[in-house]
Amino acid sequence: MSGPPRQGTHRQPGDGWLDCACGAQHWGLLGAAGLLLHRRTAAGAQVVLQHRATWSHHGGTWGIPGGALAPGETAVEGAVREATEEAGVDPEALEVLATRVLDHGTWAYTTVVARATGVQNPRATDPESLEVRWVDVEEVATRPLLPAFAEAWPALRALLD
Ligand SMILES: [Zn+2]
Repeated sequence: MSGPPRQGTHRQPGDGWLDCACGAQHWGLLGAAGLLLHRRTAAGAQVVLQHRATWSHHGGTWGIPGGALAPGETAVEGAVREATEEAGVDPEALEVLATRVLDHGTWAYTTVVARATGVQNPRATDPESLEVRWVDVEEVATRPLLPAFAEAWPALRALLD
């Protein structure tokens, strides 16, 4: 659920604002996707969240790593690529479990739900994030969330259970 990258940071052909049929503008000319990566520990379930840089769209809130799809890319490919680029996620150590699409017709956002199958050491690896970290599932709703993620979270959380 990243917004636009700061000028000069990994720009690609799908980057840009789209005027959607719903009346809003959304990031991602070809749609966008994000990765909800989770793991189970002895202490409970956790997900990887990204604390968005203050200069970004809805800066300062927490969401999941993601961004605009590139031409020819599936939502799963885009979500995993973005999470690799901006959150240090290892694409070889995860398994995709489900996808959830928010479809506006002219634009869609796909949340890719995945499970860590090996060591993941999420961290901020580009300037779009103040911080990237594992967050207890129980604690997610207590953080200031990106509005679209806050709306989606109850359904996403149910998918994790
Ligand atoms: Zn829309």
